[in-house]
Amino acid sequence: MNAVNGTHSNGESENEDIVIVGGSLGGLFAGVALKCHGYNTTILERTNQFLLENQGAGVVAGGDTIEFFEKYDRTGKPVAVPSYKRLYLNQKGDIIHEKVNRQNMTSWDLLYYLLRANYDRVDSAYLEGGKLPDKRPSDGTVNYRYGCTVTNIVDEGSRVRVHFKRKIEDGSEVDESLTTRLVIAADGPSSTIRSILEPSVKRNYAGYVVIRGTVPELEASQKALEVFRERFCFFHGPGIQNLTYTIAGENGNTSPGHRLLNFVWYANFPDGSEELERIMTDKDGRRRKVTIPPGMITWDAWEMLKSKASDKLPPQMAEMAHKSKNPFVQCITDVTSPQNFYMDSKVVLIGDALAGFRPHTVASTSQAAFDVMGLVEWLDGNIDRRQYVKQTMQYARLVQSRGVHIGNRSQFESLPIEDYIEDRNMMSIPRRDLVYPDWTAEGLDSM
Ligand SMILES: Cc1cc2nc3c(=O)[nH]c(=O)nc-3n(C[C@H](O)[C@H](O)[C@H](O)COP(=O)(O)OP(=O)(O)OC[C@H]3O[C@@H](n4cnc5c(N)ncnc54)[C@H](O)[C@@H]3O)c2cc1C
Repeated sequence: MNAVNGTHSNGESENEDIVIVGGSLGGLFAGVALKCHGYNTTILERTNQFLLENQGAGVVAGGDTIEFFEKYDRTGKPVAVPSYKRLYLNQKGDIIHEKVNRQNMTSWDLLYYLLRANYDRVDSAYLEGGKLPDKRPSDGTVNYRYGCTVTNIVDEGSRVRVHFKRKIEDGSEVDESLTTRLVIAADGPSSTIRSILEPSVKRNYAGYVVIRGTVPELEASQKALEVFRERFCFFHGPGIQNLTYTIAGENGNTSPGHRLLNFVWYANFPDGSEELERIMTDKDGRRRKVTIPPGMITWDAWEMLKSKASDKLPPQMAEMAHKSKNPFVQCITDVTSPQNFYMDSKVVLIGDALAGFRPHTVASTSQAAFDVMGLVEWLDGNIDRRQYVKQTMQYARLVQSRGVHIGNRSQFESLPIEDYIEDRNMMSIPRRDLVYPDWTAEGLDSM
């Protein structure tokens, strides 16, 4: 195996590890792929528990997510539930358009646990039907460190020093640092690393939120099952979009009868409005900036949203809102970094840290997988840096801008349903078939 950029450190001291900041899906994609290619890694994750908390929601498994698992998964567990058709409903709940279209639906927690099994051999009930991967002599070493919040990075010439605060048992924090030749920033859309490198890049509210939740298949009415079971079902109304689909159930169970129906409901709430403040203020009275996690929405806000669901959504979708026991809310935001490499290529941004897509793109997880698969190719010397920058930046720019375009059309314009269907079809074009407009390549040659 090639040792490009001096980052291949198998057998060297812990400080020689590639440091990955963030231990969610993007960080774990990086950890798993690098391990399989023989690179030693340390993941620094700020969350205080050994395992990240599941939000229990669905993820559309795009081509690159599936390809990643085909390449690197050693558990053998199926990662997705198929959806065979796309359906569009009117407000009365009648089907107004349908199209045969195979798509793969998965859940965040299933992906997370499979990646943890592949990275640091975390055993869990999610592995049922698969197995805990064996250790291979060619694997790089792994180190998942939780309770470690990265606060700064400093260029020290041939290396980067990563400063972080580590939570210790008595609850206090100690300052620590380590050095590395490569930092992979997978610290999400509010990335600390990006804010250090690009302080002027801000994450901006787009004027609407997404309300998400799940309902066990067996608790849904027959009418709801007819349109949601193994279907990708859509509704568009003024200022509203709702999509609902089937995902794996408890512990990643993909057997019929044990799965969940996952709803994703976009609704407009202008910045500064009384309603937005009400929704985004949690049970403890704290105004959350971006996310109200499961269990933290106030009774009053949830009653208000359920009543909107009854008034505005098709009955099958309103039923999901009424039956969901674990709803959560996220503000839709936009953010893109102008570049992905910093500090003479010793720091690279990937996934949501590079570009936080609107969820309409159904591409966030796939972007992280794509960024990582290319990164490993670059480290192994199979592609050059320029090619890596071009492929990842053009993809990030195009998908980010398409997300803004289709999101704004859906939420702030009233268009014929055919236009929304066309927008959705555009987002389903496989990455390999995307045609990149010239503007997506602007300035990349000098990066
Ligand atoms: C707990 C959790 C649950 C999620 N659930 C869903 C879901 O159900 N459906 C869905 O579509 N998407 C979900 N997402 C988002 C999804 O993972 C991302 O959109 C996408 O997969 C890209 O992942 P990412 O790793 O780039 O970013 P993220 O998933 O946002 O991960 C960023 C990680 O970095 C960590 N981090 C941030 N700052 C620091 C710091 N300074 N130091 C150390 N660590 C830091 C965060 O704690 C987080 O674990 C979830 C994200 C998280 C963190």
